[in-house]
Amino acid sequence: MQAVMDNDVSDTVRALAEGDFTQVADCFANAGFTVRLPARGILQLSSPNRLLRRPRLLLSVGVHGDETAPIEMLAQLLDELTAEPHALAVDLMAVVGNLAAIAQGKRFIEVDMNRLFRAELQPTAQQTVETERAGAIMRATSSFFAGVEAEKWHLDLHTAIRPSHYPTFAVVPSTIADVRWHALLGWLRRAGIGAAILNPKPAGTFSSYTAASFGAASATVELGQVGTLGGNDLSQFADAHKAIDIFIRSAKVPAGDAPQVFKVAQELIKHSDAFKMGFDGSTKNFTPMPPDTLIAEDGDTVYRVGAETEYVVFPNPDVRVGLRAGLMVVREE
Ligand code: ZN
Repeated sequence: MQAVMDNDVSDTVRALAEGDFTQVADCFANAGFTVRLPARGILQLSSPNRLLRRPRLLLSVGVHGDETAPIEMLAQLLDELTAEPHALAVDLMAVVGNLAAIAQGKRFIEVDMNRLFRAELQPTAQQTVETERAGAIMRATSSFFAGVEAEKWHLDLHTAIRPSHYPTFAVVPSTIADVRWHALLGWLRRAGIGAAILNPKPAGTFSSYTAASFGAASATVELGQVGTLGGNDLSQFADAHKAIDIFIRSAKVPAGDAPQVFKVAQELIKHSDAFKMGFDGSTKNFTPMPPDTLIAEDGDTVYRVGAETEYVVFPNPDVRVGLRAGLMVVREE
């Protein structure tokens, strides 16, 4: 059987992992909401009163199929909400990302889906399970956000592969406007997020797409570590759960102090199969490296830390040639 079925998984979590929103959709339709299901694993709930400018919130999970804790968290949030659908104070779109990969308990089937969210699809891109799914998600996202004069928010919920000096952190596209940036930082802190990386390079991530194409206040949120579906300790995610819950029930973004902000100092691009990291695979995210430390070698290209201490994030020498094998970030005071 598929990996998802192997665990002791509740019915609501299983339905969500399979992209089945039937029950939630019925409940909100009966309560008078406008409900759309543009594709499997995609749900849109909006107030029938179009004059109400409610904030629009996109919550996405499972863009990486093995990152299951956010799936469980979203199932719980929606389950609680169906008990009192009128408590929903925002227009909400929920996306369960890579359904095929979730079913197999894998990060992806053919290619990393979180590199495929680009307004213009590269004509040369090969058709894969992931390009097709990313296309369906982008079309639905566009129908939810485009031409709408409302505050737009997108929280793309992930879990990190490796241990981290900051157990929870976020990557925020630097294209978002200043006002939104401060509100977003406040939300992140309230959600228990310790660090935020401001990323100027759109890397084809879902959050960079919604920020650039629709002006959404977007973040890729890394909530703890990868675990199996049904086997996650959700108490680790209680702060994030609470902060989302307050938002969807009040339409107000709960504010907190800002998390530690980091800026990208350099991207490590893997140019060839000769690419080799200067440290071992167990290195934690946000491990500090003093000036001039050797980071990686790739034929004639040598990556070194610059004049100030840099911190390594997402080191992964096993990516395909041409892709990003890691980020080096610096602290912003
Ligand atoms: Zn992920």
